[in-house]
Amino acid sequence: MGRGGTWMARIIGLLAAGLLMGAFFIAASVQSQSRNKLTPQLPPMAGDLLRGRTVILDPGHGGWDPGAHGRDATEAQINLEVALKLRTWLEMAGARVLMTWDSPGGIPPNRKYRVQQRVEWINRQGGDLLIDIHCNSGQSTYRNPQTFYWDGAASYHLAEDVQEELRYFTHSKRDVKRIDQYVLRHATMPAINVEIGYLTNRQEERQLMTPSYQEDLTWFIFVGTERWLLKGRWPPNLLESPPPTDLLMR
Ligand SMILES: [Zn+2]
Repeated sequence: MGRGGTWMARIIGLLAAGLLMGAFFIAASVQSQSRNKLTPQLPPMAGDLLRGRTVILDPGHGGWDPGAHGRDATEAQINLEVALKLRTWLEMAGARVLMTWDSPGGIPPNRKYRVQQRVEWINRQGGDLLIDIHCNSGQSTYRNPQTFYWDGAASYHLAEDVQEELRYFTHSKRDVKRIDQYVLRHATMPAINVEIGYLTNRQEERQLMTPSYQEDLTWFIFVGTERWLLKGRWPPNLLESPPPTDLLMR
């Protein structure tokens, strides 16, 4: 094939990728409008983006360490409830989901939370991606989810795609942020930490404790993850481009 033919093939390839993206977003938006709670007989969407992938979910804290406190809830409890809902979406899409702990008391209360052991376990599983779930704390007016990453273009893009969905869900302007956290720094796979909201904001704490809100929140984390996987089908140089430098300086 001559030079012109090669270019034609590339253009056709890009058009096909565009059509695939378009079809995906239509499917995703129809799905998010029509879905009604977690309905196992209704798979989230057609496609095989997550099928056969291993996703590791790490609800932050647990056992001896409750994490941040709201007025009524502890962070560990909310992190676990939300991670379990996210697991349901991911499994419905065909992913294999492994969790660092998956039941109240899954980390015995007398056991000290050792983040090093947790990361070692995570890295032994050979997952395709890691999602850490935490709740934020700060001034009582602070609210809304924010997604963090440490290094690597893949983690950055995963954080961007999940945060984009969470911005849409909460109408917030919060951006992704680079952060030096032990789990993110030592994970050997694309890894993000979704701080799902502020327990120190009374209204957001109540939302985070509500099962229907947890379902909606995890739906958007799930859709963001699918968006990121879809990008893997784009020309690889798109994923390899480094994050904008201003993000690295924040
Ligand atoms: Zn935390």
